[in-house]
Amino acid sequence: MRCYCCSSKSFKECCEPFIKGESLPHSAEQLMRSRFSAYATAHYHYILDTYTKEKQQALSIEDLTSSAQGAKWFALKVHPTLAASSLDSTVNSFVDDSVNKPLNNSINSSVYANTDVEEATDAEQNTKSNLNDNTTVVEFTAYYFENKSMYQLHETSNFIVEDGKWRYHDGELHEDCGKIKYGRNLPCVCGSNKKFKQCCALKNR
Ligand SMILES: [Zn+2]
Ligand SMILES: [Zn+2]
Repeated sequence: MRCYCCSSKSFKECCEPFIKGESLPHSAEQLMRSRFSAYATAHYHYILDTYTKEKQQALSIEDLTSSAQGAKWFALKVHPTLAASSLDSTVNSFVDDSVNKPLNNSINSSVYANTDVEEATDAEQNTKSNLNDNTTVVEFTAYYFENKSMYQLHETSNFIVEDGKWRYHDGELHEDCGKIKYGRNLPCVCGSNKKFKQCCALKNR
């Protein structure tokens, strides 16, 4: 069986050893994937254990269990991102806009855009140099069904190494979170290359 986190590996070769405590994720992405798989399989102790100590203090298994109740987590998409660029959508939209501007504006706007790109690169470098190897961000979209409806949770999460282990600290939700309508004939969100209606839509019951 393909892993719940939608990697190309099986659950046994992917997230299960982490959830069982047999091995440790060696990247934030692996930890994030395994936490998703833990939600999908209702392993709430693992969810709790992989929060940072600070966050664990304010959480309980009961909280996690009750807040997860009713949601059937069925697919995960990890976004390939540069830590900084993913957080600065204003820069991206500015550059995109300038591409679409009419020709007579092109000189001004391209000068403007170049300035902006340079600034973005500087900002990116600053952010990167502020980050050390012990913190990172991962952006993902997780999909779930609840009361027969489909939802997405799009988050950029902060991960920190504590005692040599990657831990989830917190995350910022993107504006497109919430109930979605997804075309039944579209390629499935899980990346299986099947149509949605022939794949994960079948899990909506
Ligand atoms: Zn996995
Ligand atoms: Zn699918």
